[in-house]
Amino acid sequence: MIRSKPVAIVGAGPAGMSAAISLAECGIRSIVIDENGGLGGQIYRQSPSTLRSSKFTQSKEASRGLQLKQHFQSFTEKIEYLPNTKVWGVWEKQLAVTGQDGWHLIDAEHLLLATGAYEYVPPFPGWTMPGVLTPGAAQLMVKSMHIAPGRRVLIAGTGPFLLVVANALHDAGVEVAGVVESVRRSEVFKSLPRLLNNFGLLRQGWDYLRRLGRAGIPIHTGHVVVEAEGQNQVEQVRFAPCHRDWQPDLSRAKTVEVDTLCVGYGFVPRTELAQLAGCEVEWKNELGGWIPRVDEDLATSRKDVWVAGDGGGVAGAAVAEDEGRLAGLAIARRCGAIDDNSFRLLRAPIIRRLDKLRRFRFALDNLSQLRPGLSTLAKEETCVCRCEELKRGEIEPAITAGCTTYRTIKTATRIGMGRCQGRMCWPAMARFVASKTGQPMEKVGNRSVRPPIIPITLGEMAEMEPSDAVADQGRNS
Ligand SMILES: Cc1cc2nc3c(=O)[nH]c(=O)nc-3n(C[C@H](O)[C@H](O)[C@H](O)COP(=O)(O)OP(=O)(O)OC[C@H]3O[C@@H](n4cnc5c(N)ncnc54)[C@H](O)[C@@H]3O)c2cc1C
Repeated sequence: MIRSKPVAIVGAGPAGMSAAISLAECGIRSIVIDENGGLGGQIYRQSPSTLRSSKFTQSKEASRGLQLKQHFQSFTEKIEYLPNTKVWGVWEKQLAVTGQDGWHLIDAEHLLLATGAYEYVPPFPGWTMPGVLTPGAAQLMVKSMHIAPGRRVLIAGTGPFLLVVANALHDAGVEVAGVVESVRRSEVFKSLPRLLNNFGLLRQGWDYLRRLGRAGIPIHTGHVVVEAEGQNQVEQVRFAPCHRDWQPDLSRAKTVEVDTLCVGYGFVPRTELAQLAGCEVEWKNELGGWIPRVDEDLATSRKDVWVAGDGGGVAGAAVAEDEGRLAGLAIARRCGAIDDNSFRLLRAPIIRRLDKLRRFRFALDNLSQLRPGLSTLAKEETCVCRCEELKRGEIEPAITAGCTTYRTIKTATRIGMGRCQGRMCWPAMARFVASKTGQPMEKVGNRSVRPPIIPITLGEMAEMEPSDAVADQGRNS
Protein backbone atom coordinates (compact mmCIF):
# COMPACT_ATOMS: atom_id res chain seq x y z
CA MET A 1 0.00 0.00 0.00
CA ILE A 2 1.30 3.49 -0.81
CA ARG A 3 0.08 6.53 1.11
CA SER A 4 0.81 10.05 -0.13
CA LYS A 5 1.35 13.23 1.88
CA PRO A 6 2.92 16.57 1.01
CA VAL A 7 5.37 16.25 3.92
CA ALA A 8 6.60 13.25 5.89
CA ILE A 9 8.41 13.83 9.19
CA VAL A 10 10.42 11.08 10.84
CA GLY A 11 10.62 11.61 14.60
CA ALA A 12 8.10 12.99 17.08
CA GLY A 13 10.62 14.62 19.42
CA PRO A 14 10.82 18.40 19.95
CA ALA A 15 12.17 18.90 16.40
CA GLY A 16 9.58 16.75 14.60
CA MET A 17 6.64 18.04 16.65
CA SER A 18 7.47 21.71 16.19
CA ALA A 19 8.06 21.22 12.45
CA ALA A 20 4.60 19.64 12.09
CA ILE A 21 3.08 22.52 14.10
CA SER A 22 4.79 25.12 11.88
CA LEU A 23 3.55 23.37 8.77
CA ALA A 24 0.01 23.04 10.11
CA GLU A 25 -0.04 26.73 11.01
CA CYS A 26 0.81 27.44 7.37
CA GLY A 27 -2.01 25.13 6.26
CA ILE A 28 0.16 22.18 5.17
CA ARG A 29 -0.65 18.60 6.02
CA SER A 30 2.04 16.25 7.23
CA ILE A 31 2.47 12.75 8.51
CA VAL A 32 4.67 12.26 11.60
CA ILE A 33 6.15 8.81 12.13
CA ASP A 34 7.86 7.57 15.27
CA GLU A 35 8.91 4.17 16.52
CA ASN A 36 7.91 5.15 20.07
CA GLY A 37 4.40 4.66 21.39
CA GLY A 38 4.01 8.28 22.49
CA LEU A 39 4.92 11.81 21.46
CA GLY A 40 7.95 13.60 22.88
CA GLY A 41 11.11 11.89 21.61
CA GLN A 42 13.79 11.35 24.22
CA ILE A 43 13.46 14.35 26.50
CA TYR A 44 9.67 14.49 26.71
CA ARG A 45 9.15 10.75 26.69
CA GLN A 46 5.83 9.79 28.28
CA SER A 47 5.37 7.21 30.99
CA PRO A 48 2.45 4.81 30.63
CA SER A 49 -0.80 6.42 31.84
CA THR A 50 -0.99 3.91 34.72
CA LEU A 51 2.27 5.31 36.09
CA ARG A 52 1.65 9.02 35.61
CA SER A 53 1.74 10.29 39.15
CA SER A 54 5.37 10.83 40.00
CA LYS A 55 7.50 13.96 40.23
CA PHE A 56 8.76 13.34 36.67
CA THR A 57 5.48 14.65 35.36
CA GLN A 58 5.70 17.80 37.47
CA SER A 59 9.10 19.10 36.33
CA LYS A 60 9.58 22.26 34.24
CA GLU A 61 10.82 20.08 31.40
CA ALA A 62 7.68 17.91 31.54
CA SER A 63 5.42 20.97 31.42
CA ARG A 64 7.20 22.30 28.30
CA GLY A 65 6.77 18.85 26.78
CA LEU A 66 3.09 18.83 27.66
CA GLN A 67 2.56 22.26 26.08
CA LEU A 68 4.23 21.13 22.87
CA LYS A 69 2.22 17.92 22.74
CA GLN A 70 -1.08 19.75 23.30
CA HIS A 71 -0.26 22.23 20.57
CA PHE A 72 0.63 19.35 18.22
CA GLN A 73 -2.56 17.48 19.09
CA SER A 74 -4.70 20.55 18.41
CA PHE A 75 -4.00 20.08 14.67
CA THR A 76 -5.70 16.72 14.14
CA GLU A 77 -6.99 17.86 10.75
CA LYS A 78 -3.54 18.70 9.48
CA ILE A 79 -1.21 16.27 11.26
CA GLU A 80 -1.45 12.52 10.94
CA TYR A 81 0.58 10.84 13.66
CA LEU A 82 1.82 7.26 13.31
CA PRO A 83 3.24 5.98 16.62
CA ASN A 84 4.89 2.55 17.05
CA THR A 85 6.04 2.75 13.44
CA LYS A 86 9.61 2.19 12.26
CA VAL A 87 11.01 3.84 9.17
CA TRP A 88 13.54 1.35 7.89
CA GLY A 89 14.29 2.52 4.38
CA VAL A 90 14.05 5.47 2.03
CA TRP A 91 14.07 5.38 -1.76
CA GLU A 92 13.85 8.68 -3.60
CA LYS A 93 10.60 10.13 -2.23
CA GLN A 94 9.30 6.98 -0.59
CA LEU A 95 9.71 5.82 2.98
CA ALA A 96 9.38 2.15 3.87
CA VAL A 97 7.64 1.83 7.24
CA THR A 98 6.49 -0.99 9.46
CA GLY A 99 3.89 -0.40 12.14
CA GLN A 100 0.76 -1.70 13.80
CA ASP A 101 -0.99 -2.18 10.45
CA GLY A 102 1.87 -4.02 8.76
CA TRP A 103 4.32 -2.52 6.33
CA HIS A 104 3.68 0.09 3.69
CA LEU A 105 5.23 2.94 1.73
CA ILE A 106 4.76 6.63 2.35
CA ASP A 107 5.20 8.88 -0.60
CA ALA A 108 6.10 12.48 0.25
CA GLU A 109 7.04 15.55 -1.73
CA HIS A 110 9.23 16.75 1.16
CA LEU A 111 10.91 14.71 3.81
CA LEU A 112 12.01 16.06 7.18
CA LEU A 113 14.35 13.89 9.22
CA ALA A 114 14.12 14.68 12.94
CA THR A 115 15.59 11.42 14.12
CA GLY A 116 17.58 12.51 17.19
CA ALA A 117 20.75 10.88 18.45
CA TYR A 118 22.27 7.80 20.06
CA GLU A 119 24.38 7.72 23.19
CA TYR A 120 28.12 7.22 22.79
CA VAL A 121 30.04 4.70 24.86
CA PRO A 122 33.68 3.88 24.09
CA PRO A 123 34.71 0.31 24.92
CA PHE A 124 36.56 -0.30 28.20
CA PRO A 125 37.17 -3.48 30.20
CA GLY A 126 33.89 -4.80 31.56
CA TRP A 127 31.61 -2.55 29.50
CA THR A 128 29.56 -5.47 28.17
CA MET A 129 28.91 -6.88 31.64
CA PRO A 130 25.33 -7.02 33.04
CA GLY A 131 24.85 -3.95 35.17
CA VAL A 132 26.56 -1.56 32.73
CA LEU A 133 24.10 0.62 30.85
CA THR A 134 23.88 4.08 29.35
CA PRO A 135 22.55 7.03 31.35
CA GLY A 136 19.70 7.30 28.82
CA ALA A 137 18.70 3.68 29.43
CA ALA A 138 18.72 4.23 33.20
CA GLN A 139 16.65 7.38 32.76
CA LEU A 140 14.21 5.51 30.54
CA MET A 141 13.78 2.86 33.23
CA VAL A 142 12.98 5.33 36.00
CA LYS A 143 11.07 7.84 33.87
CA SER A 144 8.94 5.57 31.71
CA MET A 145 8.75 2.34 33.65
CA HIS A 146 9.39 3.47 37.23
CA ILE A 147 11.95 0.70 37.61
CA ALA A 148 15.24 1.32 39.43
CA PRO A 149 18.20 0.25 37.27
CA GLY A 150 20.08 -0.88 40.38
CA ARG A 151 20.49 -0.33 44.11
CA ARG A 152 23.77 1.57 44.11
CA VAL A 153 24.77 3.30 40.91
CA LEU A 154 27.84 5.13 39.63
CA ILE A 155 27.30 7.55 36.74
CA ALA A 156 30.24 8.31 34.46
CA GLY A 157 31.22 9.97 31.20
CA THR A 158 30.89 13.59 30.22
CA GLY A 159 28.32 16.33 29.76
CA PRO A 160 25.38 17.84 31.63
CA PHE A 161 23.17 14.83 30.87
CA LEU A 162 25.05 12.94 33.62
CA LEU A 163 23.76 15.47 36.15
CA VAL A 164 20.21 15.16 34.81
CA VAL A 165 20.30 11.40 35.21
CA ALA A 166 22.01 11.51 38.62
CA ASN A 167 19.18 13.74 39.86
CA ALA A 168 16.50 11.55 38.29
CA LEU A 169 17.93 8.41 39.91
CA HIS A 170 18.33 10.11 43.27
CA ASP A 171 14.74 11.38 43.11
CA ALA A 172 13.61 7.84 42.32
CA GLY A 173 15.22 6.58 45.53
CA VAL A 174 18.28 4.98 43.94
CA GLU A 175 21.54 5.37 45.87
CA VAL A 176 23.90 7.35 43.61
CA ALA A 177 27.48 6.54 44.62
CA GLY A 178 28.91 9.41 42.60
CA VAL A 179 29.31 11.11 39.25
CA VAL A 180 32.59 10.69 37.37
CA GLU A 181 33.07 13.54 34.86
CA SER A 182 36.12 13.60 32.57
CA VAL A 183 36.24 17.39 32.24
CA ARG A 184 38.24 19.15 34.97
CA ARG A 185 36.70 21.69 37.28
CA SER A 186 39.27 24.31 36.17
CA GLU A 187 38.18 23.85 32.54
CA VAL A 188 34.55 24.44 33.52
CA PHE A 189 35.49 27.66 35.33
CA LYS A 190 37.47 28.87 32.31
CA SER A 191 34.41 28.36 30.09
CA LEU A 192 32.05 30.21 32.43
CA PRO A 193 32.24 33.60 30.67
CA ARG A 194 31.11 31.96 27.40
CA LEU A 195 28.40 29.95 29.16
CA LEU A 196 27.01 33.08 30.82
CA ASN A 197 25.38 34.04 27.52
CA ASN A 198 22.52 31.74 28.45
CA PHE A 199 21.96 32.36 32.10
CA GLY A 200 18.76 30.26 32.23
CA LEU A 201 20.45 27.07 31.04
CA LEU A 202 23.52 27.74 33.19
CA ARG A 203 21.31 28.12 36.21
CA GLN A 204 19.55 24.86 35.40
CA GLY A 205 22.95 23.13 35.42
CA TRP A 206 23.85 24.85 38.68
CA ASP A 207 20.57 23.64 40.26
CA TYR A 208 21.34 20.06 39.26
CA LEU A 209 24.80 20.38 40.86
CA ARG A 210 23.42 21.97 44.01
CA ARG A 211 20.83 19.23 44.50
CA LEU A 212 23.51 16.56 44.16
CA GLY A 213 25.71 18.45 46.62
CA ARG A 214 22.86 18.67 49.13
CA ALA A 215 22.30 14.94 48.82
CA GLY A 216 26.00 14.35 49.53
CA ILE A 217 26.64 12.79 46.12
CA PRO A 218 30.31 13.28 45.19
CA ILE A 219 31.30 14.58 41.75
CA HIS A 220 34.73 13.42 40.63
CA THR A 221 35.76 15.85 37.90
CA GLY A 222 38.86 15.11 35.80
CA HIS A 223 38.35 11.34 36.18
CA VAL A 224 37.44 8.49 33.83
CA VAL A 225 36.04 5.05 34.47
CA VAL A 226 38.63 2.44 33.55
CA GLU A 227 37.04 -0.89 34.41
CA ALA A 228 33.84 -2.57 35.58
CA GLU A 229 34.51 -5.74 37.55
CA GLY A 230 32.42 -8.58 38.98
CA GLN A 231 31.65 -12.29 38.76
CA ASN A 232 28.46 -12.38 36.70
CA GLN A 233 27.52 -8.74 36.98
CA VAL A 234 29.02 -5.44 38.05
CA GLU A 235 30.23 -5.53 41.67
CA GLN A 236 32.78 -2.76 41.56
CA VAL A 237 34.06 -0.05 39.26
CA ARG A 238 37.55 1.40 38.98
CA PHE A 239 38.01 5.03 37.99
CA ALA A 240 41.12 7.15 37.80
CA PRO A 241 42.19 10.77 37.46
CA CYS A 242 42.89 11.61 33.83
CA HIS A 243 45.29 13.86 31.95
CA ARG A 244 44.03 16.66 29.74
CA ASP A 245 43.60 14.22 26.85
CA TRP A 246 41.53 11.96 29.18
CA GLN A 247 44.19 9.27 29.36
CA PRO A 248 43.81 7.77 32.85
CA ASP A 249 46.59 7.70 35.41
CA LEU A 250 46.10 4.09 36.46
CA SER A 251 48.56 4.38 39.35
CA ARG A 252 45.99 6.54 41.16
CA ALA A 253 42.86 4.49 40.34
CA LYS A 254 40.16 4.13 43.01
CA THR A 255 37.53 1.46 43.42
CA VAL A 256 33.88 1.93 44.33
CA GLU A 257 31.42 -0.85 45.11
CA VAL A 258 28.24 -0.56 43.06
CA ASP A 259 25.86 -2.95 41.30
CA THR A 260 25.22 -0.63 38.34
CA LEU A 261 27.36 1.62 36.18
CA CYS A 262 25.78 4.16 33.84
CA VAL A 263 28.28 5.39 31.31
CA GLY A 264 27.84 7.80 28.40
CA TYR A 265 30.09 10.30 26.64
CA GLY A 266 27.52 12.44 24.89
CA PHE A 267 25.58 11.65 21.73
CA VAL A 268 26.05 10.66 18.10
CA PRO A 269 23.57 12.04 15.52
CA ARG A 270 21.29 9.43 13.99
CA THR A 271 21.95 9.92 10.29
CA GLU A 272 21.12 6.59 8.64
CA LEU A 273 18.02 7.82 6.81
CA ALA A 274 19.82 10.93 5.56
CA GLN A 275 22.65 8.72 4.28
CA LEU A 276 20.19 6.32 2.61
CA ALA A 277 18.46 9.27 0.99
CA GLY A 278 21.80 10.21 -0.55
CA CYS A 279 22.33 13.44 1.43
CA GLU A 280 25.95 14.59 1.67
CA VAL A 281 27.43 14.31 5.15
CA GLU A 282 30.36 16.07 6.80
CA TRP A 283 32.44 15.58 9.94
CA LYS A 284 31.73 18.04 12.78
CA ASN A 285 33.38 16.86 15.97
CA GLU A 286 31.69 19.49 18.14
CA LEU A 287 28.23 18.40 16.91
CA GLY A 288 28.74 14.69 17.62
CA GLY A 289 30.44 13.39 14.46
CA TRP A 290 29.08 12.87 10.93
CA ILE A 291 26.10 15.08 10.14
CA PRO A 292 24.15 15.90 6.99
CA ARG A 293 25.42 19.04 5.26
CA VAL A 294 22.61 21.64 5.41
CA ASP A 295 22.02 25.19 4.23
CA GLU A 296 20.94 28.02 6.55
CA ASP A 297 17.32 26.82 6.38
CA LEU A 298 18.21 23.18 7.07
CA ALA A 299 17.74 21.79 3.56
CA THR A 300 20.24 19.03 2.78
CA SER A 301 22.16 18.58 -0.47
CA ARG A 302 18.99 16.83 -1.70
CA LYS A 303 16.80 19.88 -1.78
CA ASP A 304 13.61 17.98 -0.91
CA VAL A 305 15.11 16.46 2.27
CA TRP A 306 15.51 18.53 5.43
CA VAL A 307 17.12 17.78 8.77
CA ALA A 308 16.33 19.27 12.18
CA GLY A 309 17.29 18.59 15.79
CA ASP A 310 19.97 16.30 17.16
CA GLY A 311 19.96 14.20 13.98
CA GLY A 312 21.57 17.19 12.26
CA GLY A 313 24.10 17.81 15.07
CA VAL A 314 23.68 17.33 18.79
CA ALA A 315 22.63 20.63 20.35
CA GLY A 316 19.84 19.90 22.87
CA ALA A 317 16.09 20.14 23.06
CA ALA A 318 15.73 23.93 22.82
CA VAL A 319 17.75 24.06 19.59
CA ALA A 320 15.86 21.03 18.27
CA GLU A 321 12.54 22.77 18.83
CA ASP A 322 13.58 25.94 17.02
CA GLU A 323 15.25 24.01 14.20
CA GLY A 324 12.02 22.06 13.72
CA ARG A 325 10.11 25.33 13.52
CA LEU A 326 12.58 26.76 11.01
CA ALA A 327 12.56 23.65 8.79
CA GLY A 328 8.74 23.60 8.90
CA LEU A 329 8.58 27.22 7.74
CA ALA A 330 11.18 26.64 5.04
CA ILE A 331 9.20 23.68 3.68
CA ALA A 332 6.01 25.76 3.81
CA ARG A 333 7.71 28.44 1.73
CA ARG A 334 8.97 25.83 -0.74
CA CYS A 335 5.41 24.50 -1.05
CA GLY A 336 4.19 28.03 -1.76
CA ALA A 337 2.10 28.24 1.42
CA ILE A 338 3.91 31.39 2.57
CA ASP A 339 5.68 34.03 0.52
CA ASP A 340 9.31 35.14 0.89
CA ASN A 341 8.40 38.18 2.92
CA SER A 342 6.34 36.28 5.51
CA PHE A 343 9.06 33.66 5.68
CA ARG A 344 11.70 36.29 6.45
CA LEU A 345 9.53 37.85 9.16
CA LEU A 346 8.74 34.53 10.83
CA ARG A 347 12.30 33.27 10.48
CA ALA A 348 14.08 36.27 12.06
CA PRO A 349 13.20 35.66 15.77
CA ILE A 350 13.96 31.95 15.39
CA ILE A 351 17.41 32.68 14.01
CA ARG A 352 18.11 35.13 16.85
CA ARG A 353 17.19 32.50 19.44
CA LEU A 354 19.16 29.82 17.63
CA ASP A 355 22.28 32.01 17.49
CA LYS A 356 22.15 32.53 21.22
CA LEU A 357 21.42 28.88 22.02
CA ARG A 358 24.07 27.61 19.63
CA ARG A 359 26.74 29.88 21.17
CA PHE A 360 25.97 28.37 24.57
CA ARG A 361 25.97 24.85 23.15
CA PHE A 362 29.20 25.48 21.34
CA ALA A 363 30.95 26.46 24.60
CA LEU A 364 29.47 23.41 26.33
CA ASP A 365 30.33 21.03 23.50
CA ASN A 366 33.87 22.36 23.27
CA LEU A 367 34.27 21.55 26.93
CA SER A 368 32.98 18.00 26.55
CA GLN A 369 34.57 17.27 23.18
CA LEU A 370 35.78 13.68 23.15
CA ARG A 371 39.52 13.37 23.63
CA PRO A 372 41.96 10.69 22.42
CA GLY A 373 42.70 9.26 25.89
CA LEU A 374 39.35 7.42 25.71
CA SER A 375 40.75 5.29 22.89
CA THR A 376 43.34 3.85 25.28
CA LEU A 377 40.78 2.32 27.66
CA ALA A 378 40.09 -0.93 25.76
CA LYS A 379 42.63 -3.68 26.45
CA GLU A 380 43.63 -6.31 23.87
CA GLU A 381 40.97 -8.72 25.11
CA THR A 382 38.21 -6.07 25.44
CA CYS A 383 35.24 -6.62 23.13
CA VAL A 384 34.97 -3.71 20.68
CA CYS A 385 32.19 -4.99 18.38
CA ARG A 386 29.33 -6.62 20.26
CA CYS A 387 27.47 -8.01 17.25
CA GLU A 388 30.49 -9.79 15.76
CA GLU A 389 32.13 -10.37 19.19
CA LEU A 390 35.47 -8.92 18.10
CA LYS A 391 38.22 -7.97 20.52
CA ARG A 392 40.58 -5.02 20.18
CA GLY A 393 43.45 -7.47 19.66
CA GLU A 394 41.66 -8.92 16.62
CA ILE A 395 41.24 -5.52 14.96
CA GLU A 396 44.72 -4.11 15.52
CA PRO A 397 46.63 -6.46 13.15
CA ALA A 398 44.33 -5.31 10.31
CA ILE A 399 45.08 -1.65 11.10
CA THR A 400 48.81 -2.38 11.26
CA ALA A 401 48.53 -4.17 7.92
CA GLY A 402 47.18 -0.97 6.37
CA CYS A 403 43.40 -1.23 6.74
CA THR A 404 42.72 2.27 8.02
CA THR A 405 39.27 3.12 6.67
CA TYR A 406 35.77 1.88 7.50
CA ARG A 407 35.53 -0.12 4.29
CA THR A 408 38.90 -1.85 4.57
CA ILE A 409 38.69 -2.66 8.29
CA LYS A 410 35.15 -3.95 7.87
CA THR A 411 36.18 -6.19 5.00
CA ALA A 412 39.24 -7.48 6.84
CA THR A 413 37.65 -8.09 10.24
CA ARG A 414 33.82 -8.08 9.91
CA ILE A 415 33.54 -5.15 12.37
CA GLY A 416 30.25 -3.33 11.80
CA MET A 417 28.74 -6.22 9.82
CA GLY A 418 26.29 -7.25 12.54
CA ARG A 419 22.70 -6.21 13.03
CA CYS A 420 23.54 -2.75 14.37
CA GLN A 421 25.49 -2.03 11.14
CA GLY A 422 28.31 -0.42 13.09
CA ARG A 423 26.06 1.95 15.03
CA MET A 424 27.49 0.83 18.38
CA CYS A 425 31.10 0.05 17.48
CA TRP A 426 32.14 2.29 14.61
CA PRO A 427 32.04 5.74 16.25
CA ALA A 428 34.53 4.54 18.90
CA MET A 429 36.56 2.36 16.51
CA ALA A 430 36.92 5.25 14.06
CA ARG A 431 38.38 7.36 16.87
CA PHE A 432 40.67 4.48 17.82
CA VAL A 433 41.94 4.20 14.23
CA ALA A 434 42.41 7.97 14.01
CA SER A 435 44.42 8.13 17.22
CA LYS A 436 46.51 5.07 16.27
CA THR A 437 47.31 6.21 12.74
CA GLY A 438 47.26 9.99 13.16
CA GLN A 439 44.70 10.28 10.34
CA PRO A 440 41.87 12.82 10.52
CA MET A 441 38.40 11.37 11.13
CA GLU A 442 37.32 12.43 7.64
CA LYS A 443 39.90 10.04 6.20
CA VAL A 444 38.95 7.14 8.44
CA GLY A 445 35.45 7.57 7.08
CA ASN A 446 31.83 7.20 7.96
CA ARG A 447 30.06 3.86 8.16
CA SER A 448 27.87 2.85 5.26
CA VAL A 449 24.22 1.94 5.80
CA ARG A 450 21.62 -0.05 3.94
CA PRO A 451 18.00 -0.97 4.53
CA PRO A 452 16.60 -2.12 6.86
CA ILE A 453 18.32 0.46 9.08
CA ILE A 454 16.30 -0.76 12.06
CA PRO A 455 16.03 -4.49 12.66
CA ILE A 456 12.67 -5.80 11.42
CA THR A 457 11.36 -9.28 12.09
CA LEU A 458 11.14 -12.13 9.59
CA GLY A 459 7.37 -12.07 10.12
CA GLU A 460 7.27 -8.42 9.02
CA MET A 461 9.41 -9.23 5.98
CA ALA A 462 7.19 -12.17 5.04
CA GLU A 463 4.24 -9.80 4.74
CA MET A 464 6.00 -7.57 2.24
CA GLU A 465 4.83 -7.10 -1.28
CA PRO A 466 7.11 -4.32 -2.38
CA SER A 467 6.29 -2.30 -5.45
CA ASP A 468 8.54 -2.98 -8.44
CA ALA A 469 10.20 0.39 -7.99
CA VAL A 470 11.25 -0.35 -4.44
CA ALA A 471 12.33 -3.89 -5.25
CA ASP A 472 14.50 -2.71 -8.13
CA GLN A 473 16.18 0.07 -6.20
CA GLY A 474 16.63 -2.23 -3.21
CA ARG A 475 18.59 -4.64 -5.39
CA ASN A 476 20.83 -1.84 -6.59
CA SER A 477 21.60 -0.39 -3.17
C1 LIG B 1 18.47 8.41 25.45
C2 LIG B 1 18.43 9.92 25.50
C3 LIG B 1 17.88 10.56 26.61
C4 LIG B 1 17.87 11.95 26.69
N1 LIG B 1 17.35 12.58 27.80
C5 LIG B 1 17.45 13.94 27.91
C6 LIG B 1 16.99 14.63 29.10
O1 LIG B 1 16.52 14.02 30.03
N2 LIG B 1 17.13 15.98 29.16
C7 LIG B 1 17.68 16.69 28.13
O2 LIG B 1 17.79 17.91 28.22
N3 LIG B 1 18.08 16.08 27.01
C8 LIG B 1 17.99 14.72 26.89
N4 LIG B 1 18.46 14.09 25.76
C9 LIG B 1 18.87 14.94 24.66
C10 LIG B 1 17.57 15.47 24.06
O3 LIG B 1 16.65 14.42 23.97
C11 LIG B 1 17.75 15.98 22.72
O4 LIG B 1 18.67 17.02 22.70
C12 LIG B 1 16.42 16.46 22.10
O5 LIG B 1 15.33 15.68 22.54
C13 LIG B 1 16.54 16.34 20.63
O6 LIG B 1 15.28 16.40 20.05
P1 LIG B 1 15.04 15.76 18.63
O7 LIG B 1 13.64 16.05 18.28
O8 LIG B 1 16.12 16.17 17.72
O9 LIG B 1 15.26 14.18 18.84
P2 LIG B 1 14.56 13.13 19.80
O10 LIG B 1 13.91 13.76 20.95
O11 LIG B 1 15.61 12.12 20.05
O12 LIG B 1 13.43 12.50 18.88
C14 LIG B 1 13.74 11.72 17.75
C15 LIG B 1 12.63 10.71 17.57
O13 LIG B 1 12.78 10.09 16.32
C16 LIG B 1 12.47 8.72 16.44
N5 LIG B 1 13.15 8.01 15.35
C17 LIG B 1 14.44 8.08 14.98
N6 LIG B 1 14.68 7.30 13.91
C18 LIG B 1 13.51 6.71 13.61
C19 LIG B 1 13.12 5.77 12.62
N7 LIG B 1 13.97 5.31 11.72
N8 LIG B 1 11.82 5.35 12.61
C20 LIG B 1 10.93 5.82 13.51
N9 LIG B 1 11.24 6.71 14.48
C21 LIG B 1 12.51 7.15 14.52
C22 LIG B 1 13.04 8.37 17.81
O14 LIG B 1 12.44 7.22 18.34
C23 LIG B 1 12.68 9.61 18.62
O15 LIG B 1 11.42 9.49 19.24
C24 LIG B 1 18.42 12.70 25.64
C25 LIG B 1 18.93 12.06 24.51
C26 LIG B 1 18.93 10.67 24.43
C27 LIG B 1 19.51 9.99 23.20
